[in-house]
Amino acid sequence: ATPTALMVGTGRGAQLGILIKGPEVLESTRRVDTVVLDKTGTVTTGRMTLQDVYVTEDADEKEVLRLAGAVEHASEHPVARAVAAGAEERSEMGVPPAEGWGRAGVPLPSASAFENVPGLGVRGTVEGHEVLVGRARLLEEAGVTLPDELAALKTRAEEDGRTAVAVAWDGVARGVLTVADAVKETSAEAVRELRALGLTPVLLTGDNRTVAASVARRVGIDDACVHAEVLPRDKVEVIKRLQAEGRTVAMVGDGVNDAAALATADLGLAMGTGTDAAIEAGDLTLVRGDLRVAADAIRLSRKTLSTIK
Ligand code: ADP
Ligand code: MG
Repeated sequence: ATPTALMVGTGRGAQLGILIKGPEVLESTRRVDTVVLDKTGTVTTGRMTLQDVYVTEDADEKEVLRLAGAVEHASEHPVARAVAAGAEERSEMGVPPAEGWGRAGVPLPSASAFENVPGLGVRGTVEGHEVLVGRARLLEEAGVTLPDELAALKTRAEEDGRTAVAVAWDGVARGVLTVADAVKETSAEAVRELRALGLTPVLLTGDNRTVAASVARRVGIDDACVHAEVLPRDKVEVIKRLQAEGRTVAMVGDGVNDAAALATADLGLAMGTGTDAAIEAGDLTLVRGDLRVAADAIRLSRKTLSTIK
């Protein structure tokens, strides 16, 4: 490929809403046969809202929301934002809004000893209670079991495509909160376009298996191509395993959690709507965060490189 033709390709990319790090990127784009898609924020909007609050018989709904919201307040994770905002909005204390308070005017208590456990959840101390919010595995690792009735409600929500997180404090599970996030309107079409280009779409997420399968079904990704409950540090391993099978892998992601996988993939595509860490790690940026543009990028590189021949 001559440098001039590649420059034309990058210019056309900018018009389509694709920022290309360097002209040589188009070369690797052409050989891609597998496209790994992150779920939250890539296939889905990533704008989650609090849906259900399930609590055990002896726990108080408002208390569960208040303590969970207090710990999540310190986290930037989409699940955390939904829980903290929902806790502030739903509190019924009826106090008029004041500076620095939540939208409904209700302050959440502050958390100390906050700790973010990547891919699992958060923990912190609120009003003297040791609070955990996250996956069932986070609780299990702390020796806390989810009672059957909460586990059943959690599974039902997940079958429905909602992400469910457990809340525990002082070593006892107290409730389950569910948050939902919509599949982007353009995702199913994007998956169809990627398939039409002969690429195999794969879904990669730290979220629950049941939720992941539900999203995959809605956008047209095969069940066998879903990798769920993958810890952030293991996302790279999934990419490497696909490469070891002889595939040339593109990865599309938006999160801090995706940065290493984006850098490991043969081609990393970052959502322009995502984190700086993802954008820095990617070879290409899809400026508007529209997944269909990933297909445009592949098409553009194939065309650019064939006109040069
Ligand atoms: P994804 O790969 O979809 O972007 P993550 O790896 O960030 O997901 O998170 C995986 C799962 O870990 C979430 O679906 C959630 O169940 C749990 N989790 C992560 N962070 C938090 C948090 N701050 N609060 C509650 N749960 C969390
Ligand atoms: Mg994401």
